Amino acid sequence: MKVQKIVTEQYGTNSYIIDNKYVVDPGIGIGKHIKNKVDVILTHAHFDHLLGLNELNYDKIYLHPGDFEMIKNAEINLSKIIGAPIEIRENLYDIQDAFETIHTPGHTEGSVLIFMNNHIFSGDTVFYNSVGRTDLPSGDQYKLENSIEKIKKIFKTKDKNIIIHPGHMEETNIERILEENPYLF
Ligand SMILES: [Zn+2]
Repeated sequence: MKVQKIVTEQYGTNSYIIDNKYVVDPGIGIGKHIKNKVDVILTHAHFDHLLGLNELNYDKIYLHPGDFEMIKNAEINLSKIIGAPIEIRENLYDIQDAFETIHTPGHTEGSVLIFMNNHIFSGDTVFYNSVGRTDLPSGDQYKLENSIEKIKKIFKTKDKNIIIHPGHMEETNIERILEENPYLF
């Protein structure tokens, strides 16, 4: 499995192209990097992870149903407030039916970690040394804390070399995140 990371424009969102077939979290400018038809995978439905959608030739969008309302509403996904409203109502599919995920509400209600072979896409739930904020729509500190506990338990059972690709900032792996992320000690 080939994972290509692109730090997209303006908001520094990490977008990932997988095997020229899937795009995870398309940020602004992603269309310059891939022209063929893809399916889109979303870790959650915040604007900075969606704004590249209309640059792509895509078929399906996979995300957790907990964020369906968010992707359909430019006020909730915060794209309206930055003056680039985006609302998607079609081609939405439950990511849980197609990919191995764990549901990790807290940053948003529908945030997930996505497992693909030796890779995890963690969105804005966990970063290499921190966790996601909970002060945006559908954010919930209590739920995030529960999700972090769940993640910690699961990571301890997994291969320590699995690479973690977050929604912002640098990659890490399970071994390092358990040692370096103060929220996962
Ligand atoms: Zn976010």
